Amino acid sequence: MTSRNDSLFERAQRSTPGGVNSPVRAFRQVGGTPRFFERAEGPFLWDADGVRYVDYINSWGPAILGHADPTVVKAVQEAASRGLSFGAPTEGEIEMAEALCQLVPSIEQVRLVSSGTEAAMSAIRLARGATGRAKIVKFDGCYHGHADSLLVKAGSGLLTFNNPSSAGVPPEITQHTLVCDYNDCGQLGQAFEKHGKDIACIIVEPVAGNMNLVKPSSEFLSAMQELCAQHGALLIFDEVMSGFRVGLSGAQGLYGVRPDLTVLGKVIGGGLPVAAFGGRKDLMQHLSPLGPVYQAGTLSGNPVAVAAGLATLRAVQAPGFYDRLGAQTSKLAKGLEAAARAAGIEFRADALGGMFGMYFSRELPLRLADVSGSRIDLFKSFFHRMLAAGVYLAPSAYEAGFVSAAHDDAIIELTLQSAKEAFRDLDR
Ligand SMILES: *Cc1c(COP(=O)(O)O)cnc(C)c1O
Repeated sequence: MTSRNDSLFERAQRSTPGGVNSPVRAFRQVGGTPRFFERAEGPFLWDADGVRYVDYINSWGPAILGHADPTVVKAVQEAASRGLSFGAPTEGEIEMAEALCQLVPSIEQVRLVSSGTEAAMSAIRLARGATGRAKIVKFDGCYHGHADSLLVKAGSGLLTFNNPSSAGVPPEITQHTLVCDYNDCGQLGQAFEKHGKDIACIIVEPVAGNMNLVKPSSEFLSAMQELCAQHGALLIFDEVMSGFRVGLSGAQGLYGVRPDLTVLGKVIGGGLPVAAFGGRKDLMQHLSPLGPVYQAGTLSGNPVAVAAGLATLRAVQAPGFYDRLGAQTSKLAKGLEAAARAAGIEFRADALGGMFGMYFSRELPLRLADVSGSRIDLFKSFFHRMLAAGVYLAPSAYEAGFVSAAHDDAIIELTLQSAKEAFRDLDR
């Protein structure tokens, strides 16, 4: 019997480059046919052949409540029935902005956009406009969307193709982007020593999720804050992934850091396109129409998308939400480590809030090179065995995993049972 996934993939490749609208979906790193999904509910996805999977991607983070959460779906339906888009302000956008300002204390004002790429790009433009400086610092393996100036040894999709940067980006555009290793205070210090007076900002994933999960050291967090303060540069936390995922106030809440600007996305749209950038009011006032830094969007603050985001932000404020989510995610990570140990496989797993990482290596990674140096061949074998067992993991060793509030004990247990068998049968 031919699989509908196979025939859909063949058909998709005729009208769409590579058959996908975002590269990591194409399964290039792991090989095989990507699954085309028809339906999702709670922790489950159903593909075009009617096969059910336990989902550990959760749309790369947004589905934190589980798929098709009834309160979010209802909010979307009600908003849609009142009109899809006005291109004019709505009360919902105020509620969204107020919620973000209240929940993330470093955000005094915020602007809504439609994608994380847009939000990060706009935050950098704002940092450059407000400081009058050109250079930015980013870290190898961190991903901040696909804006030209950021495609310098950028995150997962690119790494997967072993391509240090994208074609179509003139070197003049990336000449102002300095790239350091994550968690490397020495390199960062050198960058500031050399270019300090020209650096507009550091942009960083305070918990990296686009080179697998990589946590920051406390020295690294301090160094970024101190160097920015010393040299008059701004600190931008890109919390598109970590925001409302590792805790109610993001990574900055967990680590007690107050960045100048914050970039949000993924969870704040609850599955629809909402992203945001915000921070110090004096900085945000540089944006048009008040100031000279231009930024705009036809569908920014779209009422249906904002309704999904607001319903999601309301749900994650339930008492104990992140404690429960964190407990389930830790249970998964610890269980995976135990299963690998039982099979004699060198493997580590780590978790933070509703994010987890899996590494076929002896130690937890501190930087991109640690992930690149892990046994990616074993990851591929593990991925396919899990997929065959109905567990949908990210199709790349350079991605973090996600657990939702719908992943109860029975689901985690089911996954760990499959993992035991997958580790045991791994092609070593
Ligand atoms: C996903 C992601 C982005 C890009 O967001 P899009 O909505 O895909 O454009 C930017 N930064 C980080 C940290 C992300 O995880």
